[in-house]
Order: sequence, then structure tokens, then C-alpha cells
Amino acid sequence: MKNIVLFGPPGAGKGTQAEVLKDKYNLVHISTGDVFRFNMKNETELGLLAKSYIDNGNLVPDAVTIDMLEAEVDKNPGAQGFIFDGFPRTESQAAALDAFLAKKGATINGMIALEVAEDILVTRLLERGKVSGRADDQDESKIRNRFNEYNTKTAIVKDYYEKQDKYYGVNGVGSISDITTLISTVVDSL
Ligand code: AMP
Repeated sequence: MKNIVLFGPPGAGKGTQAEVLKDKYNLVHISTGDVFRFNMKNETELGLLAKSYIDNGNLVPDAVTIDMLEAEVDKNPGAQGFIFDGFPRTESQAAALDAFLAKKGATINGMIALEVAEDILVTRLLERGKVSGRADDQDESKIRNRFNEYNTKTAIVKDYYEKQDKYYGVNGVGSISDITTLISTVVDSL
């Protein structure tokens, strides 16, 4: 199994790259943001619970997110590996993921982080908001709050994987295909 955490701040390009990489490496792509949005659209109990957090740019509580992630993994028993996109976003999520995979005799092979400066990201997200219809992409104060959540709760997850010698930073500014090439070099080495 090859399990990759695709990491980076909102708007860094994780979802775009994951879509390319899942086909290239035959991995299952799990985006916790996409799963939440699917549940919100279908007004499930989980979606209704998550909505107020997401619309305001806050993180959904760990317990809810971890349960959901584990259920998504368990839906794919034959997978050759996973690309985790948008998860883990806190240190306790990272620890929960390690424990969960360990029970299956699996591990995270590497965290690949897309590095992009914050001013570029705000512009990208506001542009995306014009077509994505996402409430959290359309309002600069909500975008700023997502960065605040990232800087205060998520950025430290880098240290968690660095301590395990599993952190790989990649320049996330450039063409989609150039960035895929950079990421692929790392994936091939794992
Ligand atoms: P994303 O599509 O990854 O930008 O996620 C959109 C929103 O979903 C985030 O701003 C959070 O509110 C929520 N979310 C997604 N993944 C997580 C996670 N791992 N932990 C907590 N909240 C999350």
C-alpha cells in the first residue's frame, strides 16, 4: 500500500493534484472537504452538523471528522493506497490516522506539502469562489479565517510528519503539470 497525505493551505492545489495522481498511481482519493460538501448538499445529519463550521471557515470538530474519514477508508477494502486530501488537519487527527492505519498493518508513506504564499492563495480562492459556489470561497473574511485555522491548528501537522522523516515540501506555484512532475518524483521515491 502507498498512502500519501497531500498537505497545504486552502487553495494550494491539493484537490487538483489529487485528481491527477489518483489515476497515475491507482490510489483512492479521499477529500474530507468533498465528503462534507456532499453531505451538506444531501442534507444528511453529518452535513447539517458540519455546515455552520464550514460556511464560516472553521474546522469541523475532530471526533466527527475522524469517524467520517475512517468510514471512507473502510468503504475501499481493496485499495492499493490512499491520497488523503485535507486530512489530517490537526495533530490529533494525524495521531488517529496513524493508529487507524496501524491496525490494518499500514502506514503513511509520506506527507507532500504544496507550498504557496498566502497572498497568491487569497487571489486564487476568490477566483475559485466565482465558479465553485462555495460560501467559504466567496468572502475574504471567511478566507482569512480559514488561514487562521490553518496557521493555528494545521501548520503544526508538518512537524508531526517531519519527526517521522516523512515530510516533503514541493513548490506549489507553476503549471499544474509541472507541479504534478515535482510531486511524482517524491511519490516514486516512497
Ligand atoms: P477543503 O475542501 O479541504 O478546503 O475543506 C473545506 C472545509 O471543510 C474546511 O474549511 C473545514 O471547515 C472542513 N474540513 C475539511 N477537512 C477537515 C478536517 N480534516 N478537519 C476539520 N475540518 C475539515
